[in-house]
Amino acid sequence: MSGSTGKHPFFSRKIFLKGAGAGIIFPFLPVSLSNPVSTVPSGNRMLLKGGTVLTMDEDIGDYEKADILIENGIIKEIAPSIETDTESVDASGHVIMPGFVDTHRHMWQGCIRNILPDGLLSDYVRVVLGQARPVFRPEDAAIGNLISALGAIDAGITTVLDWSHIGNSPAHTDAAIEGLKDSGIRAVYAYGSGDSTPVNRYPEDIHRLREKYFSSDDQLLSLALGAGINAAQWDLAREAGARISVHVNGTGDLLPLADRLGPDVTCIHCCNLLDEEWELLAATGTGVSISSPVEMIMGHGVPPIQQTLDYGILPSLSVDVETTVPGDMFTQMQSVFTLQRMQVLARERAGEENVPGLLTAKEVLRFATINGAIHNRLDQKTGSLTPGKQADMIMLSLEHVNIMPVNNLYGAVVSGMDRQNVEMVMIGGVIKKWQGKLVRDDLQSIKNRAIQSREGIFERAGIY
Ligand SMILES: [Zn+2]
Repeated sequence: MSGSTGKHPFFSRKIFLKGAGAGIIFPFLPVSLSNPVSTVPSGNRMLLKGGTVLTMDEDIGDYEKADILIENGIIKEIAPSIETDTESVDASGHVIMPGFVDTHRHMWQGCIRNILPDGLLSDYVRVVLGQARPVFRPEDAAIGNLISALGAIDAGITTVLDWSHIGNSPAHTDAAIEGLKDSGIRAVYAYGSGDSTPVNRYPEDIHRLREKYFSSDDQLLSLALGAGINAAQWDLAREAGARISVHVNGTGDLLPLADRLGPDVTCIHCCNLLDEEWELLAATGTGVSISSPVEMIMGHGVPPIQQTLDYGILPSLSVDVETTVPGDMFTQMQSVFTLQRMQVLARERAGEENVPGLLTAKEVLRFATINGAIHNRLDQKTGSLTPGKQADMIMLSLEHVNIMPVNNLYGAVVSGMDRQNVEMVMIGGVIKKWQGKLVRDDLQSIKNRAIQSREGIFERAGIY
């Protein structure tokens, strides 16, 4: 089939532009969506057949139609056609791509999501950190993490960095980790501080966590330190073999840490950095995570999408707080895409010459997948569909009315789709969402736990 191998066949006008060429449009094939809900495939070997594949691996490129063989949770082979007698899933009428990667989210707040739709950063500090966090019990952290993770999976996010500043006590920390484990998501647990209590063991407790939960690399969870602008904490993280994730809201804060920056550090927000700090980030290969909707709504500053591009830094994207913004990556992608183009076009209208290039949908999709994996230090495992990597992938329906008829795949995924298109989510070869529904039989009891937790938090915190 033409365009089935090589790089970016989908930019071909023949395939994508309505009415072009000999009237070729994107093929619509009958798929299993209209079939009765069948048993969720769960074998050690699985073949996804006939999907349209965006690998997000520049060396492999994309496939108009391909089969993907998965063996023991690993992507074994991607090819136009694979003949095998293993269990197969009809993937026609779907995009198959790597799951989205979120590089920073405070998941313990899952049960108080959307509490501050109009909130500023100061409201968040007052209500969420000042009122709610001190009354959180370990079980609130557990269900918060679980429900936030399930929301992420439902939206096609297969990897998330949980920036867990609910370390009020070791019991809180343990419970948050248990919530992640329960969800089955791939996660970087970024151990953070919490309310200042006599039993808060931050940051030294990272050694116990390393030993208790993170002694193996062969698991879904890995370890980071949710650190401050603090050299001693960064040194401790490295001593424990943990990645460093740090909020950077100020100006000039990174200068004293210049000799400690590096690819194992991700700086979040970065809306107010000096040119000198950007130069340092670029020179040291330090990651930058942009939480565009939060930064614009809550007043952190202008999301630094253009600065990252100017300095040759490829950003990742992050949800940050569900207390104010949605928990999906479609919104994240659309936010930076819209902002960058608005900024550049405004400069052009103002008469500036030689303005930067405009972001493309494909570049934005990269931010939300492989760049996130790089910043989470998991790009050897996930972030692209590359044989040998973990089978973390999603199937997005091309048959929903919101994107049919499909004329440009990257446009459909980045600008046309939302969580309703996420038909299947697989993490490490295990299907977590199937035919548009989470694969769990305990959602009602999870909902009950969430409501109970929320009621208790509000009552003890005096919220409402
Ligand atoms: Zn944050």
